[in-house]
This record gives sequence, structure tokens and C-alpha cells, in this order.
Amino acid sequence: MSVLEGLEPKKVFAYFEEISRIPHGSGNTKAISDYLKGFAAERGLKVRQEACGNIIIYKEATKGYEASPAVCLQGHMDMVCEKASDSRHDFKNDPLPIAVMDDEVFSRSTTLGADDGIALAMTMAILDSDEYEHPPIEAVFTVDEEIGMEGAKQLDYSALSSRRVINLDSEDEGIFFISCAGGLRGNINLDVSYKRHKGIEYDIVISGLKGGHSGEMIDKYNANAIVIMGRLLRFIQSRMKLRIIELSGGLMDNAIPREAACHIHVSKENATIFDDTVAEFEQIIKNEYRANEDNLMIYCENLGETEKQVLRSESTKKLIYLLRAVPDGVIKMCRTKGQERLPETSLNFGIMRLDDDRFTLEASLRSSISTEKYALSDKLRLIAEAVGADYSEKGDYPAWEYNDDSELLPILTRIYEEQYGSSPVVRGIHAGLECGVIYHALKPADIVSFGPTIKGAHTPKETISIESVQRTFRLLTSFLKELK
Ligand SMILES: [Zn+2]
Repeated sequence: MSVLEGLEPKKVFAYFEEISRIPHGSGNTKAISDYLKGFAAERGLKVRQEACGNIIIYKEATKGYEASPAVCLQGHMDMVCEKASDSRHDFKNDPLPIAVMDDEVFSRSTTLGADDGIALAMTMAILDSDEYEHPPIEAVFTVDEEIGMEGAKQLDYSALSSRRVINLDSEDEGIFFISCAGGLRGNINLDVSYKRHKGIEYDIVISGLKGGHSGEMIDKYNANAIVIMGRLLRFIQSRMKLRIIELSGGLMDNAIPREAACHIHVSKENATIFDDTVAEFEQIIKNEYRANEDNLMIYCENLGETEKQVLRSESTKKLIYLLRAVPDGVIKMCRTKGQERLPETSLNFGIMRLDDDRFTLEASLRSSISTEKYALSDKLRLIAEAVGADYSEKGDYPAWEYNDDSELLPILTRIYEEQYGSSPVVRGIHAGLECGVIYHALKPADIVSFGPTIKGAHTPKETISIESVQRTFRLLTSFLKELK
């Protein structure tokens, strides 16, 4: 039974529905990869399947385009598997329960996988048709974009002749992406030691913060709970001696942390002024963030006298130094004309942990200029080394740098203006896209990224607009026609 039958463009939605029947969560892409390989083979198209599952399908130029250089159409085949808490959907076996309402296709209680199944469906419709004119096509479908862009990293780029790439993994119709940030994770590890101590124990929790994605939301200047905790500990320390028992904050390096907590000891004498000290600090922070953090709250509870393992003074001093010395948030905004609202370089401390023998801080660093990213990382290393802490880098991935001489962009913009009667928004994004990895491997490469409107990606509320797919597919096929 077909749910999407009758929707236009027919082939696009027919393939979209076929894809929805094949489980294809990140890390589980063998079946979808084999399906794509079979699709190509059945149509006599040359296909290459890589060990990791990446697929490249080659289609020859249509008449009149034989001498044109190839163009790469690219998207990722894996999807994020999220479902409503009461859903019994099994992402390893079940077809997605897709449905249509008004202008939207969605999946009942699960992610839809339009991110990025629609890229596959639109590309397959072109590969499976002689209706559209185009230069030679190299269609690249990568695995595991959503878990570290593994497919794009492992792709054998020598299998591609394209230097023109159309990435179809953008979620806002009318916005063309033309650059993205690169990034890396920076880890600070400080060895710490403890001793037994008796004192008045306090439980402190900073909560109610907005948080957000550490790339796309970093320029909103939402409060970082780890940074605020550093401020608070320093504030208390300026009034009295404190001893740290427990300390934690954040869940992921790429999310602005919304919560941080600690247990500390202070002396009996200081306990009388402790609540006031924390309340005073709370007012200071509430004032600083009055415009954007209206639910910020600092909870503080006296747990009475206890005897616990506490950090030795030397460890406490170094730990608070680290929390206060590291930079955080936007470091520099972009100055390229038209891109002034885009952060160029930033970092976010997303995780803070205090274990038996070490204190750890994990940050996500981003920049559209790789040398700025490394300079910032080096700064963290110097700050860490100043107190004898270790610093290490992980998960480095390259930026897709802005191309002043793009030939694709003016053509795409002109076609868009003809079709829509308005101008597109052209911008960079302060987050990682596969385009960064692809750009780095192919450069000099000319890349643009666009796609139909998808709402609620990565959540069970994900939807895709049918009309937006129609317009975007028309834009894509008209664009290919112009790429002589
Ligand atoms: Zn995606």
C-alpha cells in the first residue's frame, strides 16, 4: 500500500517512500547501501560501493552535455533514530510509519529521515529519468553523517572527477549555504587529589538555562552553566575558604550546558553568611542575563555537617583557575561582506567532570578559518599547561571555506530569482557539514548546499513540506540544465 501515491514529483515521493521502508539509522546502513547499489545496477548505471557502505552512482551526460565537466549530487543515507517516549517502533526492523497531512509528510511517532532521505529520493528521480538535461552526474551517498561524518571522511575521492558539488542536506528552502565551520574537540585533564575533611556541606545547582546547539546558537550568548559555576566558585572563594566535594556540568560537548552542580564544604562560621553569598551572586548573574535567561536559577541547600573526601587546596586552586581562565563563546564574528552576522570562531565548554583522580573539561571549538581554530586550541593548551594539566585534541574536521569566485552560486541565484520572483538568502553556517570534508578533499571545489524545508529534524516531529519539495526539485533540475 502506498501512502505517498499521487504526490508530485511522482518519482521523488515514490523513492522517498521506498527508502522509508528500509531501516537506515546511523550505524545501520548496510541495507540502504545495498538497495542503492541494486537501484543503479537495475538501470545499467555504473556504481561503486565502498567498504564502509558509501555509494557512488555515475550517470552519463545527456545529449549536448557530453563535453561538460561532471557535477556531484550529494547527500547522506543515514538518519537520526528518535521516537516518542511511548512509541514501540523498532528502528532495526520496522518500516517508518509515514503519513501525509495537508502539505506535510511525517512519520507517526518517529523521525521521518527526510534529513537526508529527500536528497537520495531527488537524486534517484534524476538518475532514473531521461526527462532532465544534465552534465555527467556523480551521485555520492555517504553513510553515518550524523555520527561524525564518517562516510564523507572515508570516501575515496579519487573515484570522483567532479569539482562542482551540489549538497542536498539543507533544511530551509530559500537559503543557500556557501560555507561552514570546521571544528575540533579540546580536552583539558587535570590530575587532582583529595583528603578527608569535616565541614558544612552545601548542594548547589545552577539550572533553568536555555542551552542550545553550540554552533548555531553560540551567537545568542545564552548562559553556559559550566562557566557560571566557575564564576560562582570564584565568587565564594573571594569571601571564604571552600572545599570541593563533587562538581559536574553539561552532557555533550556540542550543546551549551543548561545545568551544573556541585557539593562543597565551608566552615561553620561561614555557613551563617553562605546563603546570602550565593543569593548575592545569583542576583549578579540574573542581571547580566536579564535579556535572555529568564528562568536561570541557583538552588542552594545546607546538608548539615559531614565528613567527606574534598579536593586538596592546590587542586582546588588549579581547578578554579582553569574554569575562570578559559575563553568561552564567540571569539570573533565574520567580517566577509554579507556574512557579518555569522560567528567565525567560537568555543563551548560542554562537559565538566570531577572523578577520583582527575578533573576534565571538554570543549567544542569551531571556526570557518582553520588557522583561527588551531590558534584557539593552542591557547587552551597554554592555559592548561600553566597549571600542569594535560590538553588533547580530538575529532578534528575541516571547514568549507567561503569561495569568492564560485561559478555555481550566480547561476543558482539567477534561476532561483526567475522561479521564485525573489532573492535567496546566501549564507554560511557556524556548524559542521559534510561539505567541509568534501571541500577539503577536492579543493579547489565549487560547492553549494540547498534543500526543501524540513522542520523538527532529529526529533519525532520531523516533517517535510510537499510543495517545498516540488519547488526545490524544479530548482535542482533547472540548475543542472544550466551547468554546461
Ligand atoms: Zn542531514
